[in-house]
Amino acid sequence: MIYKRTAIIGIGLIGGSFALAAKRAGIVETVVGVARSDETRQAALEVGAADEVATDPARAVRGADLVYIAVPVGATRSIFGQIRDSLEPGALVTDAGSTKREVMQAAAELLPDHVSFIGGHPMAGSEQSGVQAAQADLFQNAVYFLTPTEATSSDEMDRMLEVVRALGAIPSVQTADVHDRIAAATSHLPHLVSAALASTVAKLLTDSQQAQDFLGTGFSDTTRLAEGSPEVWRDIFLSNADNLAASAEELIGVLQAFVAALHNEDPDACERLLREARRARRRLTDQ
Ligand code: NAP
Repeated sequence: MIYKRTAIIGIGLIGGSFALAAKRAGIVETVVGVARSDETRQAALEVGAADEVATDPARAVRGADLVYIAVPVGATRSIFGQIRDSLEPGALVTDAGSTKREVMQAAAELLPDHVSFIGGHPMAGSEQSGVQAAQADLFQNAVYFLTPTEATSSDEMDRMLEVVRALGAIPSVQTADVHDRIAAATSHLPHLVSAALASTVAKLLTDSQQAQDFLGTGFSDTTRLAEGSPEVWRDIFLSNADNLAASAEELIGVLQAFVAALHNEDPDACERLLREARRARRRLTDQ
């Protein structure tokens, strides 16, 4: 299947990478990239992610047989409202939002029956943002979650699976509830921890020059995610607040166990906690 006209609403890191990957795979012809700022639109043309650019999502989706929405999750409902009356019958509409319950709810309320909407979330990305950081191989071998609706037919699902596989990604079909629970533990909690760690270390080391001299690879490895876009991550946290708060409560319990072992100067408890952590990491990463 070759999509003649693809509208990418939010042509940043993920939207731009989708464009580059889909072009390389030969599944899209003309790509129109939508962004609010002139700077983003120019950059999308320069890196070859878009053939045309636009500011108005409704105009961009006219004539499009594929619509890919990659704006911060909190903006998705508004985008659905803007494009609903301009979508072409039979168009395949999908998104890349890192949480799925809110998006699926908004799609059910706002999108017309004459399009196929299937939610998506590529488990790929980086702490960088913007179309300048887009890469054609970003989705290579990455798990790509898909959340169909109750109305999704097997033909529609097949079309979406074909797109995901063309990007080099590995599809995983889940409900939005299951997706959001998994993503809270595997992606959103690590981001929260990374952000909290960066802030805590900065508080502990107030002399910034001295701090730079002492920071090692441990700090860089564990705080890389804190570089992520605060706008994008604010929306992810808020749209998965219940699952993320529950995951963070679990973390607090583990931290408290470490603090107790330290207060008690208890070598056995300390070693047990560290051994458990190493075993857990090896099990999770299949080592
Ligand atoms: P990004 O690099 O900041 O890109 C977002 C793009 O959307 C920008 O080009 C921005 O350009 C545009 N935009 C923002 N609000 C808009 C609006 N209301 N209307 C039209 N365009 C708008 O962010 P990203 O990392 O690609 O994230 C995009 C989506 O992918 C998010 O939903 C995120 O949860 C999801 N995701 C991210 C990652 C990751 O690792 N970063 C991984 C998987 C999924 P202007 O500011 O010029 O409008």
